[in-house]
Amino acid sequence: MINYNKLIFELSNQDRIGYSLPKQRFTDYNIENLDPSLARQTELLLPEVSELDVLRHFTNISNKNFGVENGFYPLGSCTMKYNPKINEEMASNKAFRNLHPLQPTNTVQGALEVYYNLQTYLSEISGLKEFSLNPYAGAHGELVGLMIIKAYHEDRGDFKRKKIIIPDSAHGTNPASTVVCGMDVVEIESNELGRVDLEKLKAVLSDEIAGMMLTNPNTLGIFENDICEITKLVHEAGGLMYYDGANLNALLGKVRPGDMGFDVMHINLHKTFSTPHGGGGPGSGPVGVTEELSKYLPNPRIKKLEDYYYVENSGEALGQISSYFGNYMVSLRAYTYIRTLGKENLRLVGPYATLNANYISKALKPAYELPIQGYCMHEVVFNGLTNKDTDVRTLDIAKRLLDFGMHAPTIYFPLLFPQAIMIEPTETESKETIDDFINVMHRIAIEAKEEPEKLKQAPTKTPIRRTDEVFAAKMMIFSYKDYLEYINNRG
Ligand SMILES: *Cc1c(COP(=O)(O)O)cnc(C)c1O
Repeated sequence: MINYNKLIFELSNQDRIGYSLPKQRFTDYNIENLDPSLARQTELLLPEVSELDVLRHFTNISNKNFGVENGFYPLGSCTMKYNPKINEEMASNKAFRNLHPLQPTNTVQGALEVYYNLQTYLSEISGLKEFSLNPYAGAHGELVGLMIIKAYHEDRGDFKRKKIIIPDSAHGTNPASTVVCGMDVVEIESNELGRVDLEKLKAVLSDEIAGMMLTNPNTLGIFENDICEITKLVHEAGGLMYYDGANLNALLGKVRPGDMGFDVMHINLHKTFSTPHGGGGPGSGPVGVTEELSKYLPNPRIKKLEDYYYVENSGEALGQISSYFGNYMVSLRAYTYIRTLGKENLRLVGPYATLNANYISKALKPAYELPIQGYCMHEVVFNGLTNKDTDVRTLDIAKRLLDFGMHAPTIYFPLLFPQAIMIEPTETESKETIDDFINVMHRIAIEAKEEPEKLKQAPTKTPIRRTDEVFAAKMMIFSYKDYLEYINNRG
């Protein structure tokens, strides 16, 4: 039997052809002036396969992928909500798809209007004055936001402020962006409630603090009750407040970061605003700022004068941080999502997401250790099984879930709890799906006691079993050539 899962080169058969191109030779194209040294001298190494074989090969590979359209995907901090198909329909509309970013603005008024309106919606939702949709991802937005904070201090001739305060519960991109921006991280320990410890915060405030990065609700899914006091303290010390709004899901239409006292923020359109993500695909991390900081927003900017939309490049801006206007199609999907839900329904996202997380929290509490009591927001963090007498670990639980056709939650993050399991169900899951997950988690807890070997062996139903993660990270095989090299060296 032919195994279409084999590498495409292994399916190759000499002179088998899977394409038909026009008969022109390359001289028929207008490239006479091309430097001959640029022309390929040797045959290109390509697999020789028929169109049908290639199709089967890739279809089979795609079937091994797991996405939100395959099953429950409670990956904490990632907001794997359903991406409504109408968003895709909009993004594949020819009227948008065939545009060129350098087209004269009078020929793309509709596209600019979408952009401008989305900027305005995000401002309204977040309580910050102006937005740029240019950053490509959350981490990119963080970098841009931090560059704005840096520019703000340096403009005032204050070059001492190089430190950014970050709680230990923060997403890993926060300290990473800080370092990339050339600033230093000051980490503060959370208190026993998983929140910012005000005394510890006061102790690190000084005239060297450029600002503080905070997620609220934080990555434990806990709302920072003292948020107004926190922003006040940092402002009094001369620092600015950065809001990591990658997951705005819990607060949407309810609470605004601008009202909490934040000066700069980013939003992940590929989380809260339901555009697809994962696998490093296109994302978008719009950055919003207060009026005072808006002059630093990156170029190009979309502005409106009466009924005309135009592109502005300002000398005061940070400069350009993406090619053209960021990922336009992602913005278009997010815009469609907001317009489809409307103001009233957007307000229901947070309550449903929060209800689902609390429902899971309560239902799993007998079997899984809940280190932080009380209500959570959009996600809940457990610390392994309640029963610590088995040697079943969080990794085993996560792997076993795969056998039930569910994606694993985020594990071993946040770092505050050694056996962290971070579950974010999102608002788009039905009660039946969530009950199903709860039943499976309880069953796994029983297995941990009665058949721990089963969990150590898991997964058994996936195309590959447990991967050697160290090997995968150290010996990356990206191409058939790499693969051959690896096989040959292995002997
Ligand atoms: C996902 C996430 C980020 C990073 O976003 P990317 O688009 O993956 O770069 C930052 N902070 C938090 C809290 C997140 O959940």
